[in-house]
Amino acid sequence: MALQGDFLEHLQTLQLLGAEAAEVRLRQDLNGLQGLIIPGGESTTMARLMDEWDLREAVRDFVGCRGAVWGTCAGMIVLAKKLREDRPVPLGLVDINVARNAYGRQVDSFEADLRVGALGGQPFHAVFIRAPMILQVGEGVEVLARLDDGTPVAAQQGKVLVTAFHPELTGDTRFHEYFLHLAERGD
Ligand code: GLN
Repeated sequence: MALQGDFLEHLQTLQLLGAEAAEVRLRQDLNGLQGLIIPGGESTTMARLMDEWDLREAVRDFVGCRGAVWGTCAGMIVLAKKLREDRPVPLGLVDINVARNAYGRQVDSFEADLRVGALGGQPFHAVFIRAPMILQVGEGVEVLARLDDGTPVAAQQGKVLVTAFHPELTGDTRFHEYFLHLAERGD
């Protein structure tokens, strides 16, 4: 989704992996796609632009038709079921409860090596930038990675994937590969 934020880095990573990738700004841009990434950026701006461009229902329909969606950071905020804050109004496509900018000012940005079983052996070096915190996950949600203190930072519900951090910024392509497999899956 190329309305705002760091969509170019996602696009480049997908192209590096040999996937056909396109910028989505209009609802018709979703036609024929199997997956949609909602990037990091500023979630209130992104949600406002989604409303202006009539994309809110289009994304819901896309998921309803078994399209895969991945939200990174601000994208995760946009996809959540519930936010601690009043704004933005999220799409409610993944049963998680999220607080924006919740890691506190002194650690506005931090990095962590995560063990992610779904990605195999090597730890995943994750970059968090004014990251949202997952406060609670619903029953149907699988947690893919946690910080050492147990806080979930990557989760999946069906074909909706969320990460509180930015795999598009570190050159490790394993999360993008994981998402491509999810998008290609026929169920
Ligand atoms: N703090 C931003 C927000 O609330 C998200 C930051 C990010 O995407 N890196 O939207």
